[in-house]
Amino acid sequence: MGNNTLIERDLSVLWHPCTQMKDHESLPIIPIKKAHGIWLEDFEGNKYIDAISSWWVNMFGHCNPRINAALNQQLETLEHVILAGFTHETIVELSERLVKLTPTGLNKTFFADNGSSAIEVSLKMSFHYWVNSGYKNKTKFINLTNSYHGETIAALSVGDVALYKETYEPLLLKTITAPSPDCFNKEQGETDKDYSARMIEPMREILQQHADECCAVIIEPLIQCAGNMRMYHPVYLTLLRQACDEFNVHLICDEIAVGFGRTGTLFASEQADITPDFMCLSKGLTGGYLPLSVVLTTNNVYDAFYDDYENLTAFLHSHSYTGNPIGCRAALATLDIFEQDNVINANQKLANHLTKVSEKFKEHPHVGDVRQHGMVVAIEMVKDKKSKTPYDWKERRGLRVYQYGLKNGVLLRPLGNVVYFMPPYVITEEQINQMAQVAFDGIHIATRD
Ligand SMILES: *Cc1c(COP(=O)(O)O)cnc(C)c1O
Repeated sequence: MGNNTLIERDLSVLWHPCTQMKDHESLPIIPIKKAHGIWLEDFEGNKYIDAISSWWVNMFGHCNPRINAALNQQLETLEHVILAGFTHETIVELSERLVKLTPTGLNKTFFADNGSSAIEVSLKMSFHYWVNSGYKNKTKFINLTNSYHGETIAALSVGDVALYKETYEPLLLKTITAPSPDCFNKEQGETDKDYSARMIEPMREILQQHADECCAVIIEPLIQCAGNMRMYHPVYLTLLRQACDEFNVHLICDEIAVGFGRTGTLFASEQADITPDFMCLSKGLTGGYLPLSVVLTTNNVYDAFYDDYENLTAFLHSHSYTGNPIGCRAALATLDIFEQDNVINANQKLANHLTKVSEKFKEHPHVGDVRQHGMVVAIEMVKDKKSKTPYDWKERRGLRVYQYGLKNGVLLRPLGNVVYFMPPYVITEEQINQMAQVAFDGIHIATRD
């Protein structure tokens, strides 16, 4: 089947995510025929490096033979079973391994089937914990400016990206927003660590004033991914954990995007040596194969729900596909690869190479910032380098980089004016060079007028 018929058929029936569909009058949608490793291939034989891991989900390449084999085996054994009243080997093993791998003290797993649902679970659980523990006034959540936690109504409420949120404001929960420790905003000459450390002060003031009415603080550890890949120092997490304990509110770490090695450690929270009360995981959990998510929490939280049925303290939340065995099998196969190939250590070399290739971007007259945590690099295009004045969003400079990338064999999908790399871990140094060169040329062309 040719490209053109597929595009036509698509546009006559499909409504695509996060897309102004009218854009496709001039910007062709790209049917992908197959994929292997870091490569996506279209129907005309063009190949693209998947530099963004297909929306941050892919870990070990497309059609990974090891994950495929595990899934084939699972398909022959058990495809799905209700998780209320029943269980299966795959989910028990996955839960045991996640409890072992995540920070000490996270001892219970609650499954859902996508990132936003995991956020909903953590918000409801936190609120319900306080209800069960006799706190009647804790009904609000504290978030950070520029944060993102998903698109369902409550997840959207605790996010702060205006582009996604503003329209729906009348429908949303009221949240209390503290300024992000985002180091893009630090003073000249200030270190990331100093800036992130001092940004705990406004958060502490909010806690001081509002802790009585707040269930939890929710944050993305180290990288605000959808918020233009803005980054901060782990010291903020350490101080935030202390503040949450001091003021008796939960800490929810949304590691949906940063989990599974993106920041250099298996989980970002490790870098601050903290245990959140809730940790949300999805995206990379299944290696980029299947929708699955999980919330890990403490025995303390679990125990607040554990009682005689008549007392009605149970967490009566469910999704039909909760704990799907095929998704869980993909997750186990992904964890196997992490373990067998010592991926976190091996990535150190790739991360160093990413650092090396990103040096060149710093000199560009329209690059205002180059930042990195582990396997994520972000390059921010600006109109004026000195003052970091942004380009007018209507100019859609990022879109120009996107189009240049596609013409030259790399799928980059800039967030506004921020070009970033978040590649699958099977990328080679040579392929990193290729990806970076295309990004560099794309930025040059997108900013030359
Ligand atoms: C993607 C994302 C979500 C939402 O996950 P979905 O599976 O898209 O619903 C939540 N939080 C963060 C940090 C994310 O990056």
